[in-house]
Amino acid sequence: MELQGKSVFGGIAIGKLSIYNKGENVVKRSKVDDVEAEVKRFEEAKETAKAQLKGLYDKAMKEVGEANAQIFDVHQMMLDDLDYVESIENMIRSQGINAEFAVATTGDNFSEMFAAMDDDYMRARAADVKDISNRVVSVLQGAEEGGIDSSEPVILVADDLAPSETVQLDKSLVLSFVTRHGSTNSHTAILARTMNIPALIGIDYSDDVNGKFAIVDGYEGKLIIEPDEETLKIYEEKKHADEEKARLLLELRGKENVTLDGKKINLYANIGGVGDVADVLKNDAGGIGLFRSEFLYLGSNDFPTEEEQFKAYRTVAENMAGKKVIIRTLDLGADKQVDYFSLGNEENPALGYRAIRICLTQPEIFKTQLRAIFRASYYGNISIMYPMIISVDEVHEIKAIVAEVKKELDEAGIPYGNVEQGIMIETPAAVLMSEELGKEVDFFSIGTNDLTQYTLACDRQNPKLERFNDAHHPAVLKAIQMTIENGHKGGAWVGICGELGADTTLTETFLRMGVDELSVSPSRILAVREKIRTTDLSK
Ligand code: PEP
Ligand code: MG
Repeated sequence: MELQGKSVFGGIAIGKLSIYNKGENVVKRSKVDDVEAEVKRFEEAKETAKAQLKGLYDKAMKEVGEANAQIFDVHQMMLDDLDYVESIENMIRSQGINAEFAVATTGDNFSEMFAAMDDDYMRARAADVKDISNRVVSVLQGAEEGGIDSSEPVILVADDLAPSETVQLDKSLVLSFVTRHGSTNSHTAILARTMNIPALIGIDYSDDVNGKFAIVDGYEGKLIIEPDEETLKIYEEKKHADEEKARLLLELRGKENVTLDGKKINLYANIGGVGDVADVLKNDAGGIGLFRSEFLYLGSNDFPTEEEQFKAYRTVAENMAGKKVIIRTLDLGADKQVDYFSLGNEENPALGYRAIRICLTQPEIFKTQLRAIFRASYYGNISIMYPMIISVDEVHEIKAIVAEVKKELDEAGIPYGNVEQGIMIETPAAVLMSEELGKEVDFFSIGTNDLTQYTLACDRQNPKLERFNDAHHPAVLKAIQMTIENGHKGGAWVGICGELGADTTLTETFLRMGVDELSVSPSRILAVREKIRTTDLSK
């Protein structure tokens, strides 16, 4: 059987299909014999949940201050709310049912009741009561994590994968990603490129594919389930040819990124964490042009501490041994959500409370990260860049916060290095202000994924818009050109770190525009190098 979808990264994968286990708690109603023992089970689970929340409160208090920690305090109090507890215990006693079902049902009932209230504060509690109920249910059931139900590498099939889910996956078990939803620019697609494995979207699979043998054709966007022997042989040969090509590209390691007529540029790599550095080195990148630091937040169940962040940044800087490492500050929000952050629901998340907007609104979180980056800068060649900038005022505000952080480090006698500072150009406002912004910073890095989304008003997550969300649109290319010219006028160097930077059909165009740096997935470094080395700008 053959299913047609759309490829988001090429290549061939051959192996068993495995449907991603979301790890959601399914709550079933069942009868119990000893209702008092069941009430006791609930009481104990409630105390465990409270202890977990207390732990979260203490950690958040240290990391992000009282205002942000308070929610965990509120959750502890809600668990002791008399009406809530009585409703659960009453249900267990009067209906003789299991604690899980009583907690989940009470959670749903209270949540509906709060949601229907006039008062804004009470309405906001609807999500909280659900949250605490889920926590107690998890304790009662023994918390179950989502993941891959296999010990051998598989083609991972899912409806869709949230960034927080992909970061927690055991990557060594994934041969390919196949999703029903998702889009070319989704973070699953970016992850597939980083891992150099094929990925398909828009595959309408049925549940009975689980465990079946299949081929992913990342060139044609096809999933071939239970292929016949002849087809399998053809694909095995194709896979072998791919491996041979990759081997030949590896011979470009150690060579310069220079055109036939002598123009040199920097070729750096994009990473999501410490685990990607081995690939950066293997593919001989000249540095790291984008370290998506939010993956440290997405991969954790709580705010990463200053120490945890410091360790990650220092390790990357040390492993890169003096080569440039550009750390992008926290870019959460929109499609990158974490439970513990409580960013709240938004009508238009892509136009919402995200990235630098969170950092400037909650400076304690921002300062924790900046302190960790500055401390790590002593151990390597670290630069910082800020995402989603729209104005010069924001840059001034950032500079003031950075000055505070440096002053505090100076006072504590903590050393730090010389840190270049840049901004991402990923909004039309930043492009239009690029002349003024270029005078303020050391460098620009153009985020073409978001710049395309905002220039063309096309949600990058919406698969229906694939046809319209065209990164080759002349408006996007004009925006890139204008940014490069204005950046240079102001004395800033200009790079591209969005996915378009790896598109070898545009490498010559970018070189002619005068780009100084391209930052691409580690697996794309050598292909882009080959393109640069065969380009002649004198013609
Ligand atoms: C971009 O928007 O192009 C970018 C590099 O950032 P992200 O894909 O992480 O939003
Ligand atoms: Mg972006």
